[in-house]
Amino acid sequence: MPDTPELAKELNHVLRAKPPWRSWNVTECGLSPVGRSIVTLDELEARVKKIGLQRAQFLMCLTCWNTARWYTTWEHNPVRVYARDFDAQYSPRASLLRRELEALGALYRAHAAEFEEIMAAMDNPEVDDLHKARQRKQGRQGRRGQR
Ligand SMILES: [Zn+2]
Repeated sequence: MPDTPELAKELNHVLRAKPPWRSWNVTECGLSPVGRSIVTLDELEARVKKIGLQRAQFLMCLTCWNTARWYTTWEHNPVRVYARDFDAQYSPRASLLRRELEALGALYRAHAAEFEEIMAAMDNPEVDDLHKARQRKQGRQGRRGQR
């Protein structure tokens, strides 16, 4: 984060990716985005492609620049977005994460059939492969046990 507030407002910051239900916005460097020049991860990627890495970096808050390189958007990988909050054991983010997970559990209990329907409709070949692999393994062990 820059030393002077004026400089921090002039530089572009990157909004930290978050789950879609979270209203709390913060930049990668931990500032409120209000009154600051903000770019999304997708906008930053497009800028790098257009003007190059070094020119794009020149316009950026270095903390946001360095941190944004390691993270992704919710749409690309929600696990990586949430993983940041799992690391925040003793902060307001940890409390927020706990409340969100409790709310998701309550939503599931209230709408279990709808949740199961959405899960079944999702195209997830990794899960399908894992499930098939477990079935094959159990089948082999079952046959082996019968001999
Ligand atoms: Zn920043």
